[in-house]
Amino acid sequence: MRAFVAEKTDDGVTRAVREDFELDSDGDVVVDVEFSSVNYKDGLATIAKGQVARISPLVPGIDLAGVTSDGAAVLAHGYDLGVSRHGGYAEQARVPSEWLVPLPDGLSARQAMAIGTAGYTAARCVMALEAAGVTPDGGPVLVTGASGGVGSTAVDILAARGYEVVASSGKDPAWLRELGASDVISREEAAGDASRPMEKSRWAGAVDCVGGATLAGVVRSLKYGGAVAACGNTGGIKLEATVLPFILRDVSLLGVDSVQTPIEARRETWARLATDLRPPHLDEAITREIGLDGLEEALSAVLRGELQGRTVVKL
Ligand code: NDP
Repeated sequence: MRAFVAEKTDDGVTRAVREDFELDSDGDVVVDVEFSSVNYKDGLATIAKGQVARISPLVPGIDLAGVTSDGAAVLAHGYDLGVSRHGGYAEQARVPSEWLVPLPDGLSARQAMAIGTAGYTAARCVMALEAAGVTPDGGPVLVTGASGGVGSTAVDILAARGYEVVASSGKDPAWLRELGASDVISREEAAGDASRPMEKSRWAGAVDCVGGATLAGVVRSLKYGGAVAACGNTGGIKLEATVLPFILRDVSLLGVDSVQTPIEARRETWARLATDLRPPHLDEAITREIGLDGLEEALSAVLRGELQGRTVVKL
């Protein structure tokens, strides 16, 4: 079958479309893959220093949606897919049944992959903020790394839920305004002044896709009782902070993982992604489509932080 394959060599990792790749993973359900998508982690799975791929050769692709041999429309993402088990960048995938999510009513396979791990993570961030008491009338919420997959979907979901969304981005702000951001600030402004233990209280909540100095700046700028959902590390993994915002402003730092969510919670989250957490600009504004042949370029772009919105891969 046709597959995009990453394989370790003495010099690094080769990435190429193969016409005759044989599926050797175990897993009780064979899925005819219709769509996959491009995430930052997929880029990492195809480079030597990415420390994501656990097998070689590997079919990357942490997201997939398609049809089982019984005719059921399903999606799957995370767990070991595209990491230590072949993922979505192939015409077929073998997936353990306990990882499958029925495609929710109202979402096509393409729309589900336009959401993908990125949109799912954005939804989990919004759910975490709301569980921590963040509401639209509490004041502005900040989304960092806003032009990326997680960030743009978070802007879209939050704006649709009535939040005043401020986006932080290193890219053109016009598109983020179209998604519903009321203001767009620079990456530098979001990261603030690292020499200060606390800064002006600005954000009732935040979705942080960047980590590092940016997340530290967000923590220093949360309003009293505010919360930040931390899900990403494109700006680094170190967090330099003091306890002062926590003990003087009662703020919360909420960790969000999409990979190991227990399956029941995952299925419930997907049902909400098709209804009250649905990103309204999913189809046109956020998503572009490529085939397996377009992956080489898209994976390089995501690693450079240059992809805008979501990229779906049609099999
Ligand atoms: P994208 O590459 O699509 O988006 C990342 C964005 O981060 C970029 O578009 C850019 O936005 C910003 N960025 C890139 N490099 C830097 C930098 N050096 N400093 C500051 N900002 C930077 O990735 P995804 O949206 O797919 O993923 C975002 C992050 O979330 C990644 O770290 C990813 O690994 C993580 N993630 C975590 C998950 C989890 O389970 N916790 C699940 C999914 C993703 P801009 O130009 O607008 O500033």
